[in-house]
Amino acid sequence: MDQNRTLLQCFEWYLPADSQLWNNLKVLAPSFSSLGITDVWLPPAYKGAAGKDDVGYGVYDLYDLGEFDQKGSIPTKYGTKDEYLSLIQEFHQQKIRVLADIVLNQRMGGDQLEYVNAQQSNPGNREEIISDDYQIEAWTKFNFVGRKGKYSTFTWNAKHFDGTDWDEKRKQSAVYLLDGKSWDNNVDHENGNYDYLMGCDVDFTNQEVLKELHTWGKWYLDFTQVDGFRLDALKHIDSQFFKDWLNDMRAYRKDNFFVVGEYWNGDLSTLQGYLSQVDEDMTLFDVPLHYHLMDASDTNGNYDMRNLFKDTLVESDAWHAVTFVDNHDTEPGQSLESFVLQWFKPQAYSIILLRQDGVPCVFYGDLYGIPAKGIGVVRELPLLMKIRASYAYGDQHDYFDDEDVVGWSRSGDASIEDSGLAVVLSNRKGGCKHMYMGSQFAGKEFVDALGNCKESVVIGDDGCGDFLCMDGSVSVWLSKQASEKVSLD
Ligand code: CA
Repeated sequence: MDQNRTLLQCFEWYLPADSQLWNNLKVLAPSFSSLGITDVWLPPAYKGAAGKDDVGYGVYDLYDLGEFDQKGSIPTKYGTKDEYLSLIQEFHQQKIRVLADIVLNQRMGGDQLEYVNAQQSNPGNREEIISDDYQIEAWTKFNFVGRKGKYSTFTWNAKHFDGTDWDEKRKQSAVYLLDGKSWDNNVDHENGNYDYLMGCDVDFTNQEVLKELHTWGKWYLDFTQVDGFRLDALKHIDSQFFKDWLNDMRAYRKDNFFVVGEYWNGDLSTLQGYLSQVDEDMTLFDVPLHYHLMDASDTNGNYDMRNLFKDTLVESDAWHAVTFVDNHDTEPGQSLESFVLQWFKPQAYSIILLRQDGVPCVFYGDLYGIPAKGIGVVRELPLLMKIRASYAYGDQHDYFDDEDVVGWSRSGDASIEDSGLAVVLSNRKGGCKHMYMGSQFAGKEFVDALGNCKESVVIGDDGCGDFLCMDGSVSVWLSKQASEKVSLD
């Protein structure tokens, strides 16, 4: 029996710009296995337009992983190229797979201005052109002079982009569609056509662009030896592109490696539509589930917990679902702010970590806190991760039969000592659930590993137990032997 897979997102938005993340993670890496972490998602490693202040999504040079004096520094926000490569090696020694964050939709921080003709698109409906064609001055030339052609001599100019958002001549911001271009097809329909997100929008129909991005992908695989990808901003990129690109990368690596895509849309059918467009060749973050968890946390208990998995990816298509509670974009102050409230985080993490379906992704900001926003750690999280790794195995029996109190049990796997558990949680009043564990547990004593309920539960001859949780709380019931091996630190 393989150990449960657990992904850790290794950053949050407000990390200090001290270029130390790669070094800090290298120190932490040996502790990750004991938390059951099998895969890590590292932030974008390439130089962004804001240099060492760039979180990584304002990509300037895909070949500068903190190696060249560009945008004001050699290192990125997270460190140098050598530190990045050394960190990946360390993770591999710990038998942890590394996912690279692949950001291809946009470029920022162009080196030179170009005179280009463009028309303005209506920001709320990009299909509508709202100006004449006129000449603007755009930062669309990327020469990478600091890199001097190392690894690649490819340079970018206006013909490689569909649009941009700044006219230097008039100091004016707008959604500019460049002359002779059209917004790419097969993108999200928000704002009419959501091809354009920010910066210089890459034209995924341009043959030079396609050739370059396929070349770069293979270079990146060889150069870094990463084990998979997290794909950024899928709803802004023609779906045909990643279908072809992943096929090419997998054929090149001769490996069906793990890929998770960020398609930020809370509508299940939109996610299913995307998966079918890319031949279901990747997993997607379960955005609908994230919104359910947020709703359950910030509605004063009025959320009906029986609907928790309604229209979520993990329920409809578990094989393609990466579940998560929060990420760098949902943090307070960020573009997709929708942060699950702290009191509900133990429940939310129990929901993604202790059930059988989906690959859960733990957020760095929950594991280590977000000091810049005064947000502390989720104290129960390390324990829940250990419980996932050691005991969350076997058949699942669901009891989502009450609007406040829901629960499930896992019957354990005979090959994993003391495995099996029961979870009861509430977003309002606490309560009791009569749940089936399995007759193999008859007479066994179970205790709440989180310590919220003090009394133990003895499993009856019928294999059932009466498991409790307190108001607005979660209890994770393990056999007494199991609970003695893990504890809240
Ligand atoms: Ca785009």
